[in-house]
Amino acid sequence: MMFPDPAALPDASGHFGPYGGMFVPETLMTALRDLEAEYKMASADPEFQRELAGLLRDYCGRPTPLYFAERLTGRLGGAKIYLKREDLLHTGAHKINNAIGQILLARRMGKSRIIAETGAGQHGVATAAAAARFGCECVIYMGAVDMERQALNVARMRFLGAKVVAVTAGQATLKEAINEAMRDWVTNVRTTHYILGSALGSHPYPMIVRDFHRVIGEETRRQILEREGRLPDQLVACVGGGSNAIGFFHAFLNDESVALTGVEAGGAGIERGRHAARFQGGRLGVLQGTKTWLLADADGQIELTHSVSAGLDYAAIGPEHSHYRDLGRITYDFATDDEALAAFRALSELEGIIPALESAHAIAHVIKIAPALDAGKILIANLSGRGDKDVHQAAGILLQDPA
Ligand SMILES: *Cc1c(COP(=O)(O)O)cnc(C)c1O
Repeated sequence: MMFPDPAALPDASGHFGPYGGMFVPETLMTALRDLEAEYKMASADPEFQRELAGLLRDYCGRPTPLYFAERLTGRLGGAKIYLKREDLLHTGAHKINNAIGQILLARRMGKSRIIAETGAGQHGVATAAAAARFGCECVIYMGAVDMERQALNVARMRFLGAKVVAVTAGQATLKEAINEAMRDWVTNVRTTHYILGSALGSHPYPMIVRDFHRVIGEETRRQILEREGRLPDQLVACVGGGSNAIGFFHAFLNDESVALTGVEAGGAGIERGRHAARFQGGRLGVLQGTKTWLLADADGQIELTHSVSAGLDYAAIGPEHSHYRDLGRITYDFATDDEALAAFRALSELEGIIPALESAHAIAHVIKIAPALDAGKILIANLSGRGDKDVHQAAGILLQDPA
């Protein structure tokens, strides 16, 4: 093995190497320790595992298919390209894996009020659906700017019975929404569980969220072995906070022959304030509970971020990603807004699949690298979500007559 066993991370203090930890107000420490203890018990409880597996299958639609993208492969003329179809899950993205897992934890802890933050709205929709399914009160915090660019998801959350609270502070995107959710949690911690939506924040969240998404990579591994009789050469996933990517990669971390590539949002280009690629010019810092790579100035002030995709538009990356980058096990690249939009178009036209703009960043990377790889190679991209939520926004940019 080239590095410590991935299953042993995080350590007891919630660290992935030097990253992670618990940088939260004292008032939340008890709730986080309770959550960690409950999660440990649930993980070892066959009844919990059975209930989760049943919901993933019958409510969410797992396993998701592994699809050979024949026309995209033909057009690029290189490696064989497969797509892991998380876009086919209930509510339209991988987010439901974690929302369902965490609501089962909330029930075990006797908490019937659910709060969450959301960027693109996909985590808000998944959480609102899970809360409706279990009859829980649900409040979703969302930046006012994101509410505008993801209006469809705002309406979906409301139909699902959630209260959506607009957050107007600062840049009015995901970071501010998380601040508001944390504030709510501090106030209502006795009755409320906070369903955090990515592999981010204080321990134990990066571990719990990763574990609920590990099913993506476990299925992929089984499916590609069945299909091709061997492991893939490379996996590609987009990285916002990093939950779909770490869930997809985790089952392959010990397979040295499988290259793993995370794709961040290059926005309008790698210039300060115009992108959200934390490994391009970022630095080590602490944000919203965790120590990790983030976009900040020399004084530690968080910089503005930009991406065409609301779900990738965040200043920090999940701590586990920072660790595997240091170890050289996962490499990180970026795709710009324009490249993602071109990929959004290409996948729609060649495969009849409209990807989420987040996922389109992974496809953009595949489009860049596949032609130079020989035809015997196998590439798998995680299609983390479908693009219905982005159609209105993309039409405004890409179509002559968007009406
Ligand atoms: C939220 C979201 C992302 C980004 O979040 P990660 O935690 O990095 O996975 C990516 N794709 C889709 C479709 C999303 O909804």
